[in-house]
Amino acid sequence: MIARTSMKIAPLLFSVVLLVACGPARDTEQAPARTRNVILFVGDGFGGAQTMLGIQYARLVEKRELNIELLMRDGNTGYSQPLPFERIVIDSAAAATQLATGQAVRNETLGLNPDGYPIETILEWAHERGLGTGLVTNMRITHATPAAFTVHQGSRYDSEQVLMDDLLQDGDVDVFLGGGARALVPAGSRVSEALPGIPEELDGESIRNDELNWVEELAGKGYVIVSDSSSLHEAASHATKLLGMFSAGHFPYVIDGRQRNLSTVPSLAEMTSAAIDILSRHNEGFFILVEGGRIDSAGHANDAGTMLHEILDFDDAVGKGLEFQRSHPDTLVLVTGDHDTGGFSFTDANFGPAAKVQLDSGIVYQPDIPYPSKDQLEILFRQNASYSYILKQAGMDPEKLVELVLAHTGLEMTMAEARDALVRNEQGPYYGGSDDSASALLGRALSRHTYVVWSTGEHTSDPVPTYGRGPGAEKLRGIYLNTHIYSVMRETLETGP
Ligand SMILES: [Zn+2]
Repeated sequence: MIARTSMKIAPLLFSVVLLVACGPARDTEQAPARTRNVILFVGDGFGGAQTMLGIQYARLVEKRELNIELLMRDGNTGYSQPLPFERIVIDSAAAATQLATGQAVRNETLGLNPDGYPIETILEWAHERGLGTGLVTNMRITHATPAAFTVHQGSRYDSEQVLMDDLLQDGDVDVFLGGGARALVPAGSRVSEALPGIPEELDGESIRNDELNWVEELAGKGYVIVSDSSSLHEAASHATKLLGMFSAGHFPYVIDGRQRNLSTVPSLAEMTSAAIDILSRHNEGFFILVEGGRIDSAGHANDAGTMLHEILDFDDAVGKGLEFQRSHPDTLVLVTGDHDTGGFSFTDANFGPAAKVQLDSGIVYQPDIPYPSKDQLEILFRQNASYSYILKQAGMDPEKLVELVLAHTGLEMTMAEARDALVRNEQGPYYGGSDDSASALLGRALSRHTYVVWSTGEHTSDPVPTYGRGPGAEKLRGIYLNTHIYSVMRETLETGP
């Protein structure tokens, strides 16, 4: 593990040194007096190998470059070390708190220093200074990453009601876009009663134990309320404050939403555009956090096809940030992950002899083992339902599982493998729950087609690629603790480039 990590870092450090020596000075030459806006994109569970998965797919299959690759090629690229207080593997709550506050903190805490006292976040600081603020996610809005920017609690696993009340009570967020509506509506009611745009499949009961109706409260404070994609577009043209809630809990995975025709749920890119439109009407500038949260869920489930689609969705959102940055160069756009999830990789496994090819020179080329290629990327992309959806549909019926896997991935598995995935749950502490374990066993069975390997269903200690464009982005070159990202954002907003 140590060797693997340092091998990854060495070429990067080398290229960073080169870029510092001969990189363009464009950013500093064109930079305006004060940086007005910061858009921070956090891919949850978006480590180096996940980044490469997106880049390799776009290059080899679609013959294009992702926004993240274009950004990395600017050269304002580095590695952040996801190191929490006194531990070597981080969770999303601590990681996001570190990005939000610049301090190393305890795992699973939100917005508290290691002694348990609240620390001001960049979002709260920006709000104090009169900047507009926004939280955008495809998870429930009270989930670790968005919550860490404005919630101060000892545990991310406190009730959703406690987290939601903490999130909303100070009124320091102007735009909320995401899921988790079940903590907004009074006890005993259904989410769709207050938010009629939410379809039945994404509806749910309130999880509150009181009569508080946050939807009404926020409407009374001037927030425009929307719950489907078309009203979101409409609101983006005139609202100054917005609550957009599109699901009782997390959003469905991109491929599951598509498959089930859940067209009321906006993409991450649509929500990012709406947040930018609204907040760019603030005179003092803005701070927005955009989280691609379901990359992490797919990583926990060891489901690479689903993860690829989440990464592409996240990249589209980054594209919206860059589009705005082009016409507003006083904007810093940053992209990072909070940590790697799953230890994902492709591997050159020994699945039998590779094909023989006659080269132009006459040499007969036949490598010892087959290596994964474009074919594997195409296989992953072809998947049109998540493993979690497939497993739910199959119930405990192995025959049905074999059929569904073929229908949704185009791949064959044996009855024995299907039975194994459904009954075996022996991956113990490396997997959080039996769902993730079944999903991992399914992925393991299909790995002879996908060449995908995973090391865990949890997080790893890998460093995370970090890059950006705009005033201050050159400070992202190198390798640093993830708390440095906070300093880059704060310094550029405070003092300009
Ligand atoms: Zn996670």
